[in-house]
Amino acid sequence: MERDSMEFDVVIVGAGPSGLAAAIRIRQLDPGVSVCVVEKGSEVGAHILSGAVLEPRALNELIPDWKDRGAPLNTPATKDRFLLLGPAGAIRLPTPPQMRNHGNYIISLGLLCRWLAEQAEALGAEIYPGFAAAEVLYHDDGTVKGIATGDMGLMRDGTPGPNHQPGMELHAKYTLFAEGCRGHLTKGLEQRFDLRAKGPEGGPADPQTYGIGLKELWEVRPENHRPGEILHTIGWPLDYKTYGGSFVYHLENNQVALGFVVGLDYQNPYLSPYDEMQRFKTHPAIAPTLEGGRRISYGARALNEGGYQSVPGLSFPGGCLIGCTAGFLNTPKIKGSHTAMKTGMLAAEAAVAALKSGADPAEGLPAYTQSVKDSWVWRELYTARNMRPYFHWGMWIGLLLGAIDTFLFFGHAPWTLKNRADHSALKKAKDCKPIDYPKPDGKLTFDKLSSVQLAGTFHEEEQPCHLTLKDDTVPMAVNWAEYAGPEARFCPAGVYEYVEVDGETKFQINGQNCIHCKTCDIKDPTQNINWVTPQGGEGPNYPNM
Ligand SMILES: Cc1cc2nc3c(=O)[nH]c(=O)nc-3n(C[C@H](O)[C@H](O)[C@H](O)COP(=O)(O)OP(=O)(O)OC[C@H]3O[C@@H](n4cnc5c(N)ncnc54)[C@H](O)[C@@H]3O)c2cc1C
Ligand code: SF4
Repeated sequence: MERDSMEFDVVIVGAGPSGLAAAIRIRQLDPGVSVCVVEKGSEVGAHILSGAVLEPRALNELIPDWKDRGAPLNTPATKDRFLLLGPAGAIRLPTPPQMRNHGNYIISLGLLCRWLAEQAEALGAEIYPGFAAAEVLYHDDGTVKGIATGDMGLMRDGTPGPNHQPGMELHAKYTLFAEGCRGHLTKGLEQRFDLRAKGPEGGPADPQTYGIGLKELWEVRPENHRPGEILHTIGWPLDYKTYGGSFVYHLENNQVALGFVVGLDYQNPYLSPYDEMQRFKTHPAIAPTLEGGRRISYGARALNEGGYQSVPGLSFPGGCLIGCTAGFLNTPKIKGSHTAMKTGMLAAEAAVAALKSGADPAEGLPAYTQSVKDSWVWRELYTARNMRPYFHWGMWIGLLLGAIDTFLFFGHAPWTLKNRADHSALKKAKDCKPIDYPKPDGKLTFDKLSSVQLAGTFHEEEQPCHLTLKDDTVPMAVNWAEYAGPEARFCPAGVYEYVEVDGETKFQINGQNCIHCKTCDIKDPTQNINWVTPQGGEGPNYPNM
């Protein structure tokens, strides 16, 4: 069956803050430029999971009257606290300058994206939720021609089923990839155009590095709710060699967003980020806030940590990368929404100028790369660039060197440390100690499956599995034999299991549970797992994460 096609000036893949800011900026600059945004979630915001404390700098630039237009920024940050946790107590540390939030807002990024989508549509952008961009299309000369959305109704073996509907081709002069952290099409583009060989500064980009962020949304007792309060912690339950920490943000309506981030360069294959988060909630500095409350949502998503030195080449023939798919998150701030929006706006400006001047799309958008380098985004990432790598030497040295870098060099130390690929950090099981996690109590701590239910995730069973293996024998022969099956622990949704069948251990993938966090694609020690998009509209259904 042949695919239908539609023509646009600009196609944007992903309706997160970067993609939506780009769509808005394009239509603000030139209402004659046709823009289409495709989003794999069932609706805008359904796949968005963030903290989130928003630094409103980019939003102020994009929509200066956002307050009058009813943007969902209702909780100004009022108080910052930073705690070092030990097993039984906590020490208050001075809040590092990067973590001070005066002037910022505690928000639901999902709700902000829904509002941004309304603004984009009011300006005439076309937004299609429920459509996953599954394939990049190319002209004969290798220039990106657009994308194709995935087929619906394929059988497990990939053959068309009774309800088969072929995907659509969306052609554009410029395609902006805004897939967020570890974009699946971006991964292919990086290889095809060798984007890591030449970063924005002209030299090779380091490998991207990541963390997994797990988040729960709680409705707490009114007496435990302090709207605007922001707490960050480091230390327990993680050991001092493992990078990570938590956030606790008091939103509106008695809601508290509680998150736990673990750097994916952790070494012990027995570590389970999910169980670390469950343990964290039992700490005496945290549990009292939650006691008597109700957990209303759960989810997880990878986030970039590589920063400045890991940003790949941004522009290529026919398109560019914007937001977290290019890795613009500021790690010490744990913030990337503002940089995602700003880079989306800069790409929009470059695309509109290129369309106006009649430039050849095969030349890409070099003006975008230059404007990123001239912007506050690049200056911000530059001064933050060594903070995460200092923690390669563990938490204590990381804190010390981070303080020296911040207060002595103001982020301008005469060195730039390297990043290394996360999956290569995992040690063999024989060299590590198993970790004994406590059983969930059903009040503060929960098992994975009941958590996944709160993510509202759904995948049609009858379709090719979207967790693809390059080699089916590797999970048993390598991951199980040498690493004690780490994917069963690093997946926050119980997708990967090693089960006993008739006295034999077998590897099993429960693809329906996937919440699209992308951790397996990053941390699999042999890089054998390749996450691809399932049918459009499937995956988690986050109401306001
Ligand atoms: C736990 C956690 C806490 C965070 N806390 C903060 C914070 O407090 N403040 C802050 O500023 N930032 C925070 N961040 C980072 C912030 O969420 C990101 O920087 C931001 O969401 C990046 O925006 P984006 O548009 O690049 O990508 P995303 O927000 O990830 O959006 C990408 C969109 O594209 C869609 N998509 C992806 N691939 C496809 C495809 N092939 N086809 C169709 N659609 C596709 C996705 O479904 C998604 O809707 C946090 C992140 C995490 C994980
Ligand atoms: S299968 Fe992979 S992408 Fe899906 S939830 Fe598990 S780790 Fe995340």
